[in-house]
Amino acid sequence: MRRKLAAGNWKMNGTRADLAQVDALLKAHPAASVDMVLCPPATLLAPMVERAGTCALEVGGQYCHPNQTGAHTGDVSAKMIADAGARYVITGHSERRTDHGETNADVLDQTLAAWDASLTAIVCIGETLEQRDTGQTLTVLASQMVGSVPEAATGANIVIAYEPVWAIGTGKVASLDKIAEVHDFMRAELTDRFGTQTAGAIRLLYGGSVKAGNAAEIFATSNVDGALVGGASLTAADFAPIVAAL
Ligand code: PEP
Repeated sequence: MRRKLAAGNWKMNGTRADLAQVDALLKAHPAASVDMVLCPPATLLAPMVERAGTCALEVGGQYCHPNQTGAHTGDVSAKMIADAGARYVITGHSERRTDHGETNADVLDQTLAAWDASLTAIVCIGETLEQRDTGQTLTVLASQMVGSVPEAATGANIVIAYEPVWAIGTGKVASLDKIAEVHDFMRAELTDRFGTQTAGAIRLLYGGSVKAGNAAEIFATSNVDGALVGGASLTAADFAPIVAAL
């Protein structure tokens, strides 16, 4: 049985004053029967872990370098994220793929680094608008999964988030039929590669303009185990109802 997961990506937003959102979220979901993860900027990892205590909220990074230490000015390693007390890290977010030219091979290396530091990787994949409009969605997703998901994937060390690039931060959401088609396809691809048991344990998230008003119907869609949420994860007022819809 896959445990439902709501993960929030704060992106380059948040200062210490925003940690009040953690208190409010935990007030709304003190002992969640689902998994809740917030991924703040690196500066807030340790303080957010402290604020979350041993409660229902886990913390994650938004990116990790493939190396654990070294001459990489401005970067953050999985070991550092783990040292801050976080348990998850996002790899392959489309904003990283676009802004920093990260390839599938980079994402695979980052995911291996995450595992090396005992973090669970939330690997993001998704097609652009042009790829969607030219009928390439499933081909693109298949090659991203082959290229970005390492061989030793398990239900414990990886979560895969399907995030159509055109739906991120745009208010546009993939249709429920499309979400079902893609998540069924992803499960089938994982089954071919890893077998039924492992594939059946890996959680698949949808991401792209999820909010309180559309979360329940998305979560009721075939093979959707939760969501990766950007904008609507910044405040407890927006995120708590999404968690409640899981
Ligand atoms: C994201 O950044 O992963 C995301 C899904 O953003 P939003 O929810 O704002 O579309």
